[in-house]
Amino acid sequence: MALWRREREGRIAHEHRPSTAALEVEVVEIEPGQILDLPGLRVEAIAVDHLPVKHAFGFVFSAPDARAAISGDTTYCPALIEAAKGADLLVHEVFMHHEMAEIPGVRTAEGTRNVASYHTLSSVVGKVAAEAAVGCLMDTGAIDNPGWNPVRGEMQ
Ligand SMILES: [Zn+2]
Repeated sequence: MALWRREREGRIAHEHRPSTAALEVEVVEIEPGQILDLPGLRVEAIAVDHLPVKHAFGFVFSAPDARAAISGDTTYCPALIEAAKGADLLVHEVFMHHEMAEIPGVRTAEGTRNVASYHTLSSVVGKVAAEAAVGCLMDTGAIDNPGWNPVRGEMQ
């Protein structure tokens, strides 16, 4: 948590929080595999492919009557597909090809290609859902997307 100390102190000061209890957390580093087993809920961490960023995880939540998987940030990842097989819901990150335009001084075409290389392309996420045979695919991404409708056709 030392890494986040300045961030936490800045938020506390800026937001005039009456309590900082919500920011007092215990960090537990996880490894791939089962990480939580509660009555009625099992959570498994799946190592996904987000290289060059190491230690990226997706998660599978299993209850007696439902399963859901969350991809985390990843490119096409066979291990995630295998773990998510037959899930009722797959929440998967997606990189929209047209959402990161080249902006002089801000973003180069090479930079955009590099970002795309370790995320799941909108033209690929449907294949992931089909291979995992999930009941429902919900796409998510971190890019503000005011042009949603024109790019929606990218997803298959
Ligand atoms: Zn990412």
